[in-house]
Amino acid sequence: NRSDVHYFGAGPAPLPTPVLEQAAQVLLNYKDKGIGLCEISHRSPEANEILTDAKQSLTTLLDIPDDYEILFLQSGGSGEFSATVYNLVSIWVEKKRAKIAQEVGDDQAEVLKRLRKVVDEELKLDYLVTGSWSLKASQEAARLVGSKYVNVAVDARKANGGKFGVIPPEDQWRLTPRTSGSGPALAYFCDNETVDGVEFPSFPHSLDGDDAPLVCGDMSSNFISRKVDVRKYAIIFGGAQKNIGNTGIAIVIIRKSLLPPHSTPASPDLLRELGLPVGPIVLDYPTIAKNNSLYNTLPIFDVWVAGQVMAGLVHAYGTKRIGGQEEISNEKAQLIYDVLDKYSQIYRVVPDKSVRSRMNICFRVHGGDADKEKAFLVGAEKKGLLGLKGHRSVGGIRASNYNAVSVEGAKKLVAYLEEYAQS
Ligand code: PMP
Repeated sequence: NRSDVHYFGAGPAPLPTPVLEQAAQVLLNYKDKGIGLCEISHRSPEANEILTDAKQSLTTLLDIPDDYEILFLQSGGSGEFSATVYNLVSIWVEKKRAKIAQEVGDDQAEVLKRLRKVVDEELKLDYLVTGSWSLKASQEAARLVGSKYVNVAVDARKANGGKFGVIPPEDQWRLTPRTSGSGPALAYFCDNETVDGVEFPSFPHSLDGDDAPLVCGDMSSNFISRKVDVRKYAIIFGGAQKNIGNTGIAIVIIRKSLLPPHSTPASPDLLRELGLPVGPIVLDYPTIAKNNSLYNTLPIFDVWVAGQVMAGLVHAYGTKRIGGQEEISNEKAQLIYDVLDKYSQIYRVVPDKSVRSRMNICFRVHGGDADKEKAFLVGAEKKGLLGLKGHRSVGGIRASNYNAVSVEGAKKLVAYLEEYAQS
């Protein structure tokens, strides 16, 4: 029975039961129309209202400024690894082209010649590789544009014996130098590394400032779990299926200055001339924005679920907004880490203390003894504590502490950790 278990899976993840109960109902009959939400047009007034409401709730929760746009795409989080590259490289190229054209005028051959040189010498995409998801994102960038353009500004494994689990000090990062009007096409980091249990404690200082590069933040696994200064980002994105909703949509928060008419993408022909990739239209932010996320058939049911979850948080936390959820997320994480630290002869938290994730709590039992960890998981399941097995690449145990995990669930896990340690 649903009420007998607490699920700590890393994603898909638990959803609030009242939302699911209502979801079951709206699948059959939405607002007494006699048809369900998966059956109605994404262009209907009902669908439009669902989109508007979901955007409004997210705006309220994260205090998203007016000069940002919210987009919904079917890309998953991984699709945004590609979309950020396609879109920001295209903008970078067009800026450079326009500047050169100003200098040399109408001579297209000369513009192209100079542009080729600028791309060759200056195009850089900065990646902070602090875990397996930012690693994947950097690999996707290299696959799309070529590895010579990708600058891995930091690879956390190098500072930690080949394994993720730390964020090296910022003075060791090798970011592409920024000067006014120049700098990398993007600077990318993953705010919370789901597999490795590493979370940035706060926004990285080096990416901040007036001539800051275009920062892309992957918040797939800590979206709406703490306050975010949206203005520091060009793009925030995340798949919905952990803190926000069910699998099927990704949410993108993008600075409007990166969309037409403020920014113009390079023409596809020019990108091809330069050997740079032209992205699929369904990942093209200008196209998605122009069509209010309805360029093609958006899974409105998924947006509805996300909207309900977010409306629930707006309602629950009132003027505290996402700060209310942040307090609870911190409290649950603290409870669990405290007991892991209390029995440090039995449990070992995988990442360094300074970067412990509040969302994905990764630890080993008895030094990673396979049989003992198996027994630990069997014991947990008997108590209705499910989804605790660590990612195959890290092993051990991972307790994902997303928003829908209740304080009661966290306390049950804590009780089991105590009991196991004392047995
Ligand atoms: N980024 C992070 C931080 C993730 O945790 C995940 C999925 N676990 C992804 C990206 C990829 O998301 P998706 O599976 O939706 O492509």
